[in-house]
Amino acid sequence: MPVLLFYIIYTHMSLVIIGTIAYDAIETPFGKTDKIVGGAATFAGLAAAYLYGQVKLIGVVGEDFGDDNLAILKSKGISLDGVQIKKGEKSFFWSGKYHNDMNSRDTLITELNVLADFDPIIPDSYQDCQYLLLGNLTPQVQITTLDRLQRKPKLVVLDTMNFWMDTAWDDLMKVLRRVDVLTINDAEARQLSGEYSLVKAADKIMELGPKYLVIKKGEHGALLFGDGEVFVAPALPLADVYDPTGAGDAFAGGFIGYLAKVGTINFNNMKNAVIFGSALASFCVEKFGVERLRELDEVGIQQRIARFAELSKFEIID
Ligand code: AMP
Repeated sequence: MPVLLFYIIYTHMSLVIIGTIAYDAIETPFGKTDKIVGGAATFAGLAAAYLYGQVKLIGVVGEDFGDDNLAILKSKGISLDGVQIKKGEKSFFWSGKYHNDMNSRDTLITELNVLADFDPIIPDSYQDCQYLLLGNLTPQVQITTLDRLQRKPKLVVLDTMNFWMDTAWDDLMKVLRRVDVLTINDAEARQLSGEYSLVKAADKIMELGPKYLVIKKGEHGALLFGDGEVFVAPALPLADVYDPTGAGDAFAGGFIGYLAKVGTINFNNMKNAVIFGSALASFCVEKFGVERLRELDEVGIQQRIARFAELSKFEIID
């Protein structure tokens, strides 16, 4: 292989994330926000950027989306060349309310706005994509993104939610056939499979396409299935969860960010990826919106990973 081609293929491998870049209004027992920056790609991008240097976003916002909000992402070295800004239109808006049980929430408003006719543009500079996170978004747009990549990425991770199971089932089935890993929460795994047992649900879901499945259980941790094995990751017991919004996306960003960093896909690395995802999610919920995810550093992340290792380490002494 000519040296230049080798250089291009093996040294420029990016992690591309597509998802919503949004305004959210959130209410939890700890307070209420006006419109603040949110969106699946925002949380996932911030989390991933702490672990991998080549993070590139695809998304769409309206004219109402402040430059200062985009600057939050840019300041972490995230490329926004694939983010369209639609003149005269409004950004995706989501509003949700959490009760004392932070594992469940009520969606109050979902305004698709710019998302309604979103046609993803993949800049040439994104064609080096080796790791692709199809973040929570219209399944048809997730399919189009896969179609528009010239080379199949080494790893495709899909995140989705009940909203799309209710409104776009057939497209969801199509995209599931084309991904390596699916991350969803326990209620969504049950809805997708029609099985209450998460073990049976995992078997059924993996028959739909993904080789690996992560089932997120909020404050109860996460399960990883694949290669005939199961791994159980704890969640960090936190005295106060201020705002769970984006935890799932931060998880997905941390998960794929770690795999991009180590570069080898196997069950053992997936286990570590689940721990990194859980660690980034645990930070996310400590403040409202992206506030906490904006202010992390490598040392803090490593310390939290060490706490996760400590949480489930035990010795049996005869
Ligand atoms: P999570 O808490 O991980 O489920 O993610 C919450 C984020 O997802 C919020 O910032 C919302 O803007 C975004 N969101 C909410 N509903 C949807 C939806 N139907 N499609 C895509 N993103 C959504």
